[in-house]
Amino acid sequence: RYRSNSTFMEHEYRFKVVVVGEEAVGKTSLILRYVENTFEGDYIPTLGVNFVVKDLPDMSTRLVIWDIGGQNMWKAKLNLYLKGSDGAIIIFDVTRPVTFGTLDTWISKLQQQLDPQFPYVVVGNKTDLQDLRKVQEAHAHKFLKNKRHSIYFEASAKTGKNVEDLFRRIADELIKLQQ
Ligand code: GDP
Ligand code: MG
Repeated sequence: RYRSNSTFMEHEYRFKVVVVGEEAVGKTSLILRYVENTFEGDYIPTLGVNFVVKDLPDMSTRLVIWDIGGQNMWKAKLNLYLKGSDGAIIIFDVTRPVTFGTLDTWISKLQQQLDPQFPYVVVGNKTDLQDLRKVQEAHAHKFLKNKRHSIYFEASAKTGKNVEDLFRRIADELIKLQQ
């Protein structure tokens, strides 16, 4: 609880958001871009699980964003990580089709652990790498059209494209469910 003087105020909403996807798709980079507005060109594997806290500009909502480690996580640990999540951001790398191919697996893992109606956004990251791109936007839309609900963003942690918007969108979806 915050001190109840005028300097601090309660957040109306507080959500746990998990960020998932295959190794090196840019999970940590997107979180760093969003929370600290920075980008690291070097690959620094995430060890274990980290979380960061970010308040929306109007301070109504606090997002607690969980960043998963890259290594194959054994099931019990993954379930602990996902437990209590209100929503998810599922990321793939537009230059590596294999990371797009496992989206379904991620969605079902989440569906098993969370409320089956959990909101999520799918993100095609590294769209700045136009020459290396292999998964096209239309392809992503087509895949998602078959899903229960499908919110898709083209993003780049490097340039910052859509980063603010995609986190804002998951927050909006979560707030909507509370109303
Ligand atoms: P994670 O394992 O999913 O957390 O992936 P990281 O955030 O550690 O990123 C893996 C690598 O991809 C790093 O070398 C990043 O610098 C790079 N990377 C991440 N996002 C982008 C992006 O949007 N564009 C480009 N060009 N590289 C990125
Ligand atoms: Mg990472």
